[in-house]
Amino acid sequence: MATMIIEGERAKAASGKTYEVRNPATGEIVDEVPAGGPADVDKAAQAASKAFASWSKLAPAKRAEILHRAAHHMLGKVEQIAPILTKEQGKTLLESRLEAQRFGENIAWFADVADKIHGQHVSLPDTTTYGLVVRMPIGVCGAIVPWNFPLTLAANKVAPAIAAGNTVVLKPASTTPLATLACIEALIEGGLPEGVVNVVLGKATGEAIVEHPLIRKIALTGSTPTGKKVMAKAAEGLKKITLELGGSDPCIVLDDADLEAAARAISVGRFFNCGQACLAVKRLYIQEGVYDALMEKLVARAAKLKPGNGLDKDSRMGPMHTETQRAEVEAQVKDALSKGARAVFGGGRPDGDEYERGWFIQPAILENVPDGARMWKEEVFGPALPVRRIKDLDEGLRLANDSQFGLGSSIWTANMAHARRAVQELEAGYTWVNALQIAHDELPFGGTKQSGFGKEHGLEAFQQYTEQKSVVVGGV
Ligand code: NAD
Repeated sequence: MATMIIEGERAKAASGKTYEVRNPATGEIVDEVPAGGPADVDKAAQAASKAFASWSKLAPAKRAEILHRAAHHMLGKVEQIAPILTKEQGKTLLESRLEAQRFGENIAWFADVADKIHGQHVSLPDTTTYGLVVRMPIGVCGAIVPWNFPLTLAANKVAPAIAAGNTVVLKPASTTPLATLACIEALIEGGLPEGVVNVVLGKATGEAIVEHPLIRKIALTGSTPTGKKVMAKAAEGLKKITLELGGSDPCIVLDDADLEAAARAISVGRFFNCGQACLAVKRLYIQEGVYDALMEKLVARAAKLKPGNGLDKDSRMGPMHTETQRAEVEAQVKDALSKGARAVFGGGRPDGDEYERGWFIQPAILENVPDGARMWKEEVFGPALPVRRIKDLDEGLRLANDSQFGLGSSIWTANMAHARRAVQELEAGYTWVNALQIAHDELPFGGTKQSGFGKEHGLEAFQQYTEQKSVVVGGV
């Protein structure tokens, strides 16, 4: 049985309770894990607070050295960690490998810049004094993560937090704790001091993290309704927060676009991870001159995405993560079809005995989706893509911005004036121009509107994990 990790030690829940983690492809039990609660969060927060005293005082270059060694050790275990992720989450082995690799690389990226957090020197009116603005770590940080990218989204929080000298209480989603435990265990084996990252498990630990008085900052990736609850609760303790929430990213393709490159990026952007991604092409607007040609290419690509158990090497798309999640996407597709949309591809479940026990679904591409359909307004967290024909860029931008969300966005065009307008006018935290929608370590990532606020990735992430302090030095 897997356990939590508190102060470097394996820990069961104080209540003794456990729950099962099941494989979304087969329904089989993968493992049993502790169902933690407030008492376990308290233990983890105390451990993190104790570790903060020494970890925050290390020279940043020393922290960088420790993190590099730990990341290197973890990266040596990618092949062992990937199947664990596939079994608990459902994604294909290729996707799991990429994700486990990204976990280690993210820790290494922040190790590289751990000693590059700079303050300022400020001249003051009295020349025998001067001012400094120094950046201090915050203390114990809570990291709350969803199930779709358990490792990437944990690393997005843990890496900048610990590189800046903070310590962490990390809570994976209750259905995907195992690969996260394996990654943190590998970091500890690789030399990360005990208590710097603690992992608590179980649904009840989320709220307990937000409420715990020792935890000074909360970073959540999750749905928009959860973000609102966490923000309200965090306000009671006046905690700093970063919220990476839902999205419904628009993609505009104009007549002069490179269609082959656009089709590839849209297909990856919508169907990677069985469509369960926050940054994903979720609404597609194609200019009429290339509509038919691009649709043909998209359908050809969707046809190659064979659903299957993520452990099978010929599977191109794993199952959805839960039955509820599949039912939600099916309801959104049904709603569009009942209002007059047409499924150009998919729209149902795949046939065959191998699909009986898992939450499998076919990729779907829908056209003539009317304005009132749920797919345009809600986040579609699965492999279904509504497509609309547009006359020009004006119409594309108007429709793209007609959303409560503002996470990612993209445009495909050879006209740089059109690209510039899109960059200026698309309401989103990220705009890709003629490029695959992936988040880079180097660039700050985070949403606007109902997609949340605060940045992960990039040097900007340090602003979320440090506080500024002003210092006046006199008598000089
Ligand atoms: P969720 O909001 O249900 O849960 C996310 C995490 O929050 C889980 O660990 C959960 O246990 C915890 N949680 C739930 N209620 C809580 C509460 N009241 N207090 C504290 N913690 C609580 O989300 P999910 O279904 O696991 O993930 C899917 C959602 O995440 C989608 O909306 C997706 O768009 C979003 N997401 C956003 C990003 C991003 O970077 N913006 C990335 C991936 C996923």
